[in-house]
Amino acid sequence: MYNAKAYSATDEKSPLASTTIARRDPTPNDVQIEILFCGICHSDLHQVRNEWSGVMPTVYPCIPGHEIVGRVTKAGSDVTKFKVGDLAAVGCMVDSDRVCPECRQGFEQFCPNLTLTYNFPDKHTGGVTYGGYSDSIVVDQQFVLKIPANLDLAGAAPLLCAGITTYSPMHYWGVTKGKKVGVVGLGGLGHMGVKFAHALGAHVVLFTTSPNKKEDALRLGADEVVISRNADEMAKHAGSFDFILDAVSADHDINAYLGLLRRDGNLCLVGAPEKPLAVAAFNLLFGRRSLSGSPIGGIAETQEMLNFCGRHNITADVEIIPIQKVNEAYDRLLKADVKYRFVIDMASLKNEA
Ligand code: NAP
Ligand code: ZN
Repeated sequence: MYNAKAYSATDEKSPLASTTIARRDPTPNDVQIEILFCGICHSDLHQVRNEWSGVMPTVYPCIPGHEIVGRVTKAGSDVTKFKVGDLAAVGCMVDSDRVCPECRQGFEQFCPNLTLTYNFPDKHTGGVTYGGYSDSIVVDQQFVLKIPANLDLAGAAPLLCAGITTYSPMHYWGVTKGKKVGVVGLGGLGHMGVKFAHALGAHVVLFTTSPNKKEDALRLGADEVVISRNADEMAKHAGSFDFILDAVSADHDINAYLGLLRRDGNLCLVGAPEKPLAVAAFNLLFGRRSLSGSPIGGIAETQEMLNFCGRHNITADVEIIPIQKVNEAYDRLLKADVKYRFVIDMASLKNEA
């Protein structure tokens, strides 16, 4: 084991603060990565504050972070995918059983024995996994991704969660040219959803509660912007969407969006608010509409998404912050004041004792 610097939450109410943690030394299949940038996902905030207690209660101390990019500093003797000095990325998963039907089909995200990057039982240490708000991490090479060389590193970090979480359902639900696609919420996930839907050739409509994001949404690739609190603007789109991706982090009325779907249209939830959402049955019955959900994406699909971003030069729009500003960034996330992903410059961790 060796010591790594990190930021942790010690309970659901305290701010994140500097700490030192023990990481495992690399086994033959592991790479050790010096973390250069780590994105701040709203899931980090949900978990730090134990808002998902019913599904995955937070174990403290909690070290969040699953949008990790960095450089390989050590490679185990059996590592073939990376060598010391290579760029490397880690997303929301660090292990799975690799033998179940889901893993065999490349759907590690559905593996019953999945290990998430943080706040999950850690087979190696017997404790819980610690995420990317840290100066280094050790991960099995199979769960480490390659970053296309042309992508800006800080802008690439959010692809590891916000990117794959929006790319995967768009592929599954066949977002393509000729489809009318809605994206709800222009935050970290939503702004990647707009970029992908646009790159895939769809007609993209962004729904926002923040009128001041309208110009940005158009610049990011939306063809139209609807202020969702304006009932008249909403009504104009009734019964017209093939697919809507809902990336909202808080309680909101999804019935308003179900009614905008055409026959057989689908609304896919990627946002994971703390409280259950109410669904009016008739919004589904009329038009044989469906409601679905989607978690992150598999490892092969994540690499495919990164390669797609390399070809189309897609990265997140980021605000880079030192780690000392992480609590301020969380407060701003709660006010929907993010353009459009906070990314921690991990060099700032060197200033901590
Ligand atoms: P974020 O950057 O904070 O963005 C959330 C956006 O939702 C806000 O910018 C805002 O957009 C909108 N919003 C916030 N409060 C709202 C309210 N009360 N009513 C309506 N709209 C509201 O969050 P994120 O990192 O993109 O994450 C979004 C959600 O996805 C979170 O719940 C997160 O945990 C979840 N998530 C799920 C997965 C998965 O695997 N499915 C992966 C990552 C994250 P406007 O200002 O445009 O209205
Ligand atoms: Zn995330």
